[in-house]
Amino acid sequence: MTVDGAGKQRAGDPGRTKRVVVVGGGTAGWMTASYLAAAFGERIDVTVVESARVGTIGVGEATFSDIRHFFEFLKLSEPDWMPACNATYKLAVRFENWREPGHHFYHPFEQLGSVDGFPLSDWWLRNPTTSRFDKDCFVMASLCDAERSPRYLDGKLIDQGFVEQQREETSARSTIVEYQGTQFPYAYHFEAALLAKFLTTYATQRGVRHITDDVTDVVLDQDGYIAHVQTAEHGRLEGDLFVDCTGFRALLLNKALDEPFVSYQDTLPNDSAVALQVPLDMDREPMRPCTTATAQEAGWIWTIPLISRIGSGYVYASDYTTPEEAERTLRAFIGPGAEDVEANHIKMRIGRSRRSWVKNCVGIGLSSGFVEPLESTGIFFIHHAIEQIVKYFPSGREDHRLRDLYNESIAHVQDGVREFLVLHYVGAKRADNQYWKDTKTRRVPDELAERIENWKYKVPDAQTVFPHYHGLPPYSYNCILLGTGGIEVRHSPALDMADERAAIAEFERIRLKADKLVQELPTQNEYFAAMRADA
Ligand code: FAD
Repeated sequence: MTVDGAGKQRAGDPGRTKRVVVVGGGTAGWMTASYLAAAFGERIDVTVVESARVGTIGVGEATFSDIRHFFEFLKLSEPDWMPACNATYKLAVRFENWREPGHHFYHPFEQLGSVDGFPLSDWWLRNPTTSRFDKDCFVMASLCDAERSPRYLDGKLIDQGFVEQQREETSARSTIVEYQGTQFPYAYHFEAALLAKFLTTYATQRGVRHITDDVTDVVLDQDGYIAHVQTAEHGRLEGDLFVDCTGFRALLLNKALDEPFVSYQDTLPNDSAVALQVPLDMDREPMRPCTTATAQEAGWIWTIPLISRIGSGYVYASDYTTPEEAERTLRAFIGPGAEDVEANHIKMRIGRSRRSWVKNCVGIGLSSGFVEPLESTGIFFIHHAIEQIVKYFPSGREDHRLRDLYNESIAHVQDGVREFLVLHYVGAKRADNQYWKDTKTRRVPDELAERIENWKYKVPDAQTVFPHYHGLPPYSYNCILLGTGGIEVRHSPALDMADERAAIAEFERIRLKADKLVQELPTQNEYFAAMRADA
């Protein structure tokens, strides 16, 4: 980092923020550039500079259902982008072996119903219809077990009371936060490299400048704002706002501006991953419509089915196993399909930058913060951040309150997700080796400990979960608490005196609806085979 007196006149002058320089061309860089182009068009200048020498992280292929707002904002429909990214549908996260070997449950994209003011989970605890909380309370669990698509062969969406937004050029576009009350029934899996490529084309067609070069220096002005970044071959790139999308390196935010990194490692010890891309023959092998997280000796393995391959990886704690052992475990888990495939070993930085926006630099993506991908939150963090950056876009340096509000909302999202992930480990009934035993005695974030005590008496609701927006509604906590099974949870005593007939009828309605949909819907394989045949 260098200090440049001359830069003071340019960067961040009290004129309008107009020139945005995005450093990094991974998922974060291209999502950011595309979104800014969609939001502001030619009223701002956006440049993306990405290194040909430093690769992208190469993983990050499962999403949250909220991601649909991203594509809608860009005015892209599924046929516009899904085939180009080998994308598939994701209705849930399927957790295997977190309770005991052979057990599985789902965290679906489906709101939990309620009867007489009590959530179905509470009624279920009072009188479990079957041993499967997820199947009794959610339609999606049955669709996942039967590997169904959420759409019929004619493209019609299953009826979950959700109306898809009409794509009219003039229509207002939706963002995540105002849609919190509704739950779209699915998210996507996609190939990260193909998405970045697709968005490169989208953004550059809308005026985003694309430079392939290395940033070799970050030059600050006398006020500590970034004046310009120096590149190896394209000279200096000046800007009013710099977006650090350089991944775990965080070259601008943490290195040049020296913003501290707050580690979550004391509560989430998984710090490494090994990933493999395994070819898949869609005509012969089933594509589950969900991400699977299978518990292992020192962490868990993800399985993400895409059109032509499976993305798989072992997320583990290096205190409990070695990279070699982890790779062996992953290869054994996948079987012969992984034999000729090269492994990608990744060291993960778990936690968040204390502030993601400092002076005239915003970190988005891995530079801002990251938690292990157990609930596919990395791309959600990016999506949420770019929505916020648009909402809090500054006119100039004087708008520090916008910056502060932005930082608060980003910190809440990341801290809230951390709590949710910790619950998976504390809640897991599994305690068959040191790794899993330690998940029960390790420190948990202070307020989570208190919240868990409350949930033993009253299933999670809006009053008792992490109190700020973080993308995870109370029903998600119910799924993990009742699915992992290690924390004893009681039903509300009031239900012992209540008339349960309406609740029983509701469980029956869910069962009948699930049976009907399983009968009617194509499998995910059949759906995408038909789409490809039509293309
Ligand atoms: P990167 O992909 O690392 O990109 C960094 C960019 O910076 C590159 O383009 C590089 O060329 C550029 N760069 C670096 N240095 C320079 C320089 N000096 N000059 C110019 N350019 C430079 N998220 C999910 O939502 N779902 C998942 O299932 C999921 N799984 C994950 C699994 C693992 C093991 C990990 C580690 C992450 C996962 N994530 C997941 C997170 C997700 O991968 C990231 O959030 C996402 O890929 C964004 O990465 P990025 O763009 O911030 O960084």
